[in-house]
Amino acid sequence: MTHTAAEAIVRGSKSRLRARLLPRTLEHAREIPYYRELWGDSVARDGRGLAELPVIGKAAPAGGAAAVRHPGLTPAVLLHSSGTTGTPFVRYRSPEEIAAFGELLRRLSEGARQRLGEDRPIVHFTTISKRHHGGALNVVSVDRTVTLSLMNDNDLAKAVALLGRPEFFPGLDKPVVQFSGSPDDLVILAHTLAQSGLNEVLAPRTITAVADYLSELQRAYLADVFPTARIVERYTMSEVTGGATRCPSCRLLHFDAHVQPDVVSLDSDRPVTEGVGRMVFTELYPFSQYQPLVRYDTGDLVEAVPGGSDSCEPGELSAAMVGRRALTPLVTHRGRTIPVFRPIPLREALESSPAVARAPMYGGMRLYDVIPGSAPLCRPEFVPGTPDRLELTVVIAFAPHLYPDHTEAVRKELTSTILAACPELAELVRDGACELILLLTADRRAAAPFAVRGY
Ligand SMILES: [Zn+2]
Repeated sequence: MTHTAAEAIVRGSKSRLRARLLPRTLEHAREIPYYRELWGDSVARDGRGLAELPVIGKAAPAGGAAAVRHPGLTPAVLLHSSGTTGTPFVRYRSPEEIAAFGELLRRLSEGARQRLGEDRPIVHFTTISKRHHGGALNVVSVDRTVTLSLMNDNDLAKAVALLGRPEFFPGLDKPVVQFSGSPDDLVILAHTLAQSGLNEVLAPRTITAVADYLSELQRAYLADVFPTARIVERYTMSEVTGGATRCPSCRLLHFDAHVQPDVVSLDSDRPVTEGVGRMVFTELYPFSQYQPLVRYDTGDLVEAVPGGSDSCEPGELSAAMVGRRALTPLVTHRGRTIPVFRPIPLREALESSPAVARAPMYGGMRLYDVIPGSAPLCRPEFVPGTPDRLELTVVIAFAPHLYPDHTEAVRKELTSTILAACPELAELVRDGACELILLLTADRRAAAPFAVRGY
């Protein structure tokens, strides 16, 4: 099963493969007391009824994903991520699923190498380590993975010294270099390497951003420093095996074949084919076995875009990133539930203006403690009323009382960029249902970095 599933994923169409794996996935899930009780007897006997099944979260209903345990398997790996209640959410994996997943990664990476006609050895440097989530399932399948820590100045100096070595492994001639890490880590690394010219010496083949949202500015900077690299934007979460890659051409999410993605209504557990909804994943057998997540709500909102990626992946679901549901106020307007604003496009709108102040890149390092290169400083507050008000406290990078005309120009420009980025907000404002108020201040304490994902 492992063998054939992994092989089919590399070759076949995604939805066909998912349809093939789904019946076994549900059959396996029914061996788990949690799902048996949650589903009852009647539903999803043959895989056609996936949409009928309830959506689960980390802790609900009835214990949620945390209560899922296969009685016949033994966990070998523990991963932890932050729970909404402050208690860590613990995710276990069994040797069987780790083997199946490892096989899949190996075949995917082999397939990619054949397509690219690449036979040089790879050395992969990553800033993602087990310290983040307790255990690690490889982000990429590469034998030579080196972890770089970027916690402080010493770490950074060590990383640069290591990357500057004439050879990484004895006898490994001219390896292909890859980097992966969180967007801020990658930007810090790029900035440091560019100062010594090491960016050109290393000439990485791929730069993979994980664990957080890579903004357009960050992406453009990485592409500038590493012109030979393919920039890969991964949308993943530590607790789900599988996720999506943001497409460089259509800019939508293309989902991994080994998970079943669904966009589910904001009002019910029904799937939607267009508009903003909740991002729900079903992990497919055999790639998740001890604690398989079926209809798991990631807490992210996405927009289902019908036919959005037809030029790249005809017939497959594709979606645009909207942001964390917990950070997104929802309202009912014209009979439907909509987000007041879209956090990720809002962040892009704020970042597009150099007038908006930004957080330092990283507080633990002397240089990056002062370079304002991280998320823009903005605090959104939604005040229900008649009409509702969306107050955005935005820190600007100059003193508004000294530049009153410029301040007004910035306000006008930001307002129109934000409304263009958030269609629901534009509709609410147009219909008189919501007012958008921009409070511009130079007080850097007035707003925290506008984080849209994070660990
Ligand atoms: Zn695409």
